[in-house]
Amino acid sequence: MIKGSHHTEATIRRMKAKSEETIRRMSKAKQGENNPMYDKHHSEEIRKEMSKRRKGNKNSWKGGITHDGEGYLLFKVPEGCKFSCMAWSNGYIQLHRLIMAECLQRPLRDKEVVHHINGNITDNRIENLKLFKSNGEHVSYHRKLRVGIWNEKFN
Ligand SMILES: [Zn+2]
Repeated sequence: MIKGSHHTEATIRRMKAKSEETIRRMSKAKQGENNPMYDKHHSEEIRKEMSKRRKGNKNSWKGGITHDGEGYLLFKVPEGCKFSCMAWSNGYIQLHRLIMAECLQRPLRDKEVVHHINGNITDNRIENLKLFKSNGEHVSYHRKLRVGIWNEKFN
């Protein structure tokens, strides 16, 4: 990389950081394989984000998630909807929780957790969803399955 004068300091720093990161990842990756670098990077990011969230707001549904950047589908319910008590302050409900609530014909309690049976958090078919009374039950279910709860992200 030639340090051209047309690059601002910030750009150079960014490029440097980027290439160091790439080298680090490349050294881990096997050569010749069609390695899905982006996905790898992405899942690392998600893992970091998950552990942050895990530490930050253990059992809170309302803690800081205001977008679907996690892969969850969010649904904005109209005011006065019978499920609006489940909504975040921005009016959104995670779609899988809403689908479960609709199936049960009652809003979910804050403590209740909706689990994705196949681990795919975008697969919100009712047959892929399982309700737990608390996150404690959800966690022990995962322990039995020997599947990390954070594989499925916070649901
Ligand atoms: Zn689960």
